[in-house]
Amino acid sequence: MRTDILFKKKTVFSYEIFPPRRSAPIETIYHTLDRMKGQQPDFISVTLGAGGTGENLSTAEIAQKIQEEQFLPSVAHLPAVNFSKDEILIILEELKEKKVENILALRGDILPNKEPKKDFSYASDLVAFIQEQGDFNIIGACYPETHGDAESSVEDIRNLKRKVDAGANQLITQLFFDNNYFYTFKEKCDIANINVPIQAGIMPVVNRKQIERMIKMSSVTLPTKFLKMMERYEHNPEAIRDAGIAYAINQIVDLVAQGADGIHLYTMNNPYVAQKIRDATRSLFNA
Ligand code: FAD
Repeated sequence: MRTDILFKKKTVFSYEIFPPRRSAPIETIYHTLDRMKGQQPDFISVTLGAGGTGENLSTAEIAQKIQEEQFLPSVAHLPAVNFSKDEILIILEELKEKKVENILALRGDILPNKEPKKDFSYASDLVAFIQEQGDFNIIGACYPETHGDAESSVEDIRNLKRKVDAGANQLITQLFFDNNYFYTFKEKCDIANINVPIQAGIMPVVNRKQIERMIKMSSVTLPTKFLKMMERYEHNPEAIRDAGIAYAINQIVDLVAQGADGIHLYTMNNPYVAQKIRDATRSLFNA
């Protein structure tokens, strides 16, 4: 049975977590998930590195555990660029066995030191392939500020339409710090007849390391008010954490009020931050 998780209720609130590094025990993430128990997002998605078979492949196992122990639907991320069709088939079999029915179908980043396998050049190829294999709910990624490899924002939207036509029936955005990018993107999607629900990806930036990473990530615009806040508090861990949480809450309040289909919180495996944001916005999702 497919679970079209975005259609169950009006505004969806979900979490994203990532598996521990290969050198760390898997229990680390189970401990994090235990600390998130009670927060009750609508689903939890679990990332998978795009390195192919060399990666930590515990995503399916973690996704299964979320469903069995937290009684929440889970979503397994699947970046395909470094997998062959046969390898993807094995992963799909494992997901079926573990009753994980929701897949975020991705191309994955092309790594400078790794020649991609040729079976899946774009996420839409993977979406079509999963669609052929049976009863999965397929989700796709999208980019309010345009994907870095795209020829233009128009081409990016055309390619997104291809992905939806291939079978992605819901979308989750890349993170952004200025909601206007999301609203303009939604309008472009409407014009292009992309009519599936789109969840806005929100990342609370709560420490210096994350700020530095954001500054390096050239594809995401950092608004002046965001930079001013970070500059002012970057040397005070408690203040930067509280400011980052407040910034994310402000974005969420505005997005939900303006009718976004859902919010996807990049939790960075931080139960404290997720809890604060959940508590401050819970009533908005039921209103
Ligand atoms: P695509 O949809 O294939 O798009 C990639 C580029 O190709 C775009 O520029 C697009 O315009 C272009 N394109 C698409 N189709 C065509 C076509 N037919 N012809 C020409 N050009 C085309 N990465 C991971 O490794 N693991 C994860 O767990 C992970 N989770 C993510 C979760 C979310 C919500 C998001 C937004 C991203 C995530 N990523 C993850 C990152 C993602 O893998 C990268 O952004 C990657 O570079 C693109 O993946 P995609 O699925 O969006 O690719």
